[in-house]
Amino acid sequence: MLDLAIIGGGPAGLSAGLYATRGGLKNVALFEMGMPGGQITGSSEIENYPGVAQVVSGMDFMQPWQEQCFRFGLKHEMAEVVRVSKQGDIFQIIQADGKSVEAKSVIVATGGKPKKSGVKGELEFWGKGVSTCATCDGFFYKNKEVVVLGGGDTALEEAIYLSRICSKVYLVHRRNEFRAAPSTIAHVKENEKIEIITPAVVKEIGGDSMGVSFVTIETNGEERRLDVPGIFIFVGYEVNNSVLKQEDGSMLCECDEWGSVVVDLSMKTSLKGLYAAGDLRIQAPKQVVCAAGDGATAALSVLSYLEGH
Ligand code: FAD
Repeated sequence: MLDLAIIGGGPAGLSAGLYATRGGLKNVALFEMGMPGGQITGSSEIENYPGVAQVVSGMDFMQPWQEQCFRFGLKHEMAEVVRVSKQGDIFQIIQADGKSVEAKSVIVATGGKPKKSGVKGELEFWGKGVSTCATCDGFFYKNKEVVVLGGGDTALEEAIYLSRICSKVYLVHRRNEFRAAPSTIAHVKENEKIEIITPAVVKEIGGDSMGVSFVTIETNGEERRLDVPGIFIFVGYEVNNSVLKQEDGSMLCECDEWGSVVVDLSMKTSLKGLYAAGDLRIQAPKQVVCAAGDGATAALSVLSYLEGH
């Protein structure tokens, strides 16, 4: 039986593996359906991880993590987990190939992914002017104009964040009303650097080999071309929580209305022995440094849990 099963091999899962094995746990397995590294491996550049001064691609950035995190005995199971369940004190890790492994404790670190808008040009310019993270990429557009697409809390908050860095933010939303907190809507409306364009839809994201150079929108039956090098798309976020779904449709532990796992400051969930870390937990800042911190915290909590078990 495993002392600890970690589901997901992004920054949270890898850091959890490092802290658990270096902390003395012998029988720890990391279940990752692809190559370890997580979402950031799809990014062309990361420059906000403390201690890494040069700008590197997400792939290059995560390479040494694997080497370091597996050095202390963490086992990598290249497998997709379909469900985690619990009988008595023991967890079952059920895999897509039908195999099942038992574990005394579990850290779920399966992350999530921003939803795509389906706009023409979105995939072609993904990471080359199309972004889903203002904290990650906003600085690349310092003193430039950008478009923000979306009308929820995240879109409006990110538009405000970008207005501090960029010369102008065009906020494009298909309805006249926003689905955000009234105070956030008020701040957006007061912000002189944000131009609200509603009701409007983005028709095309265009550019060349250097990246995005324009965004075409349709508003009130008319087309308008915005010459911008970047567009930030906030049309929703999917939390990868399916492993927590039980056969009867219930969730193994408490989740909020968006499916994010409820944890306390020690990354403990509502179920004894089950921890969650990284982008799938409530109020996650969705940054590598935060996911890594969560993973370390969760592993330290597991060490105390197993000690008292
Ligand atoms: P993830 O990185 O999502 O890792 C989860 C892992 O779990 C994945 O590898 C997945 O394959 C695996 N998994 C999921 N389900 C299963 C299953 N059922 N069975 C087995 N394995 C499973 N952050 C920054 O700090 N700076 C940046 O500049 C930055 N840029 C970004 C650019 C892009 C394009 C994207 C998409 C994100 C960016 N981020 C950035 C955000 C950052 O990547 C995430 O916050 C971070 O990766 C979250 O880590 P995580 O470990 O929680 O989850």
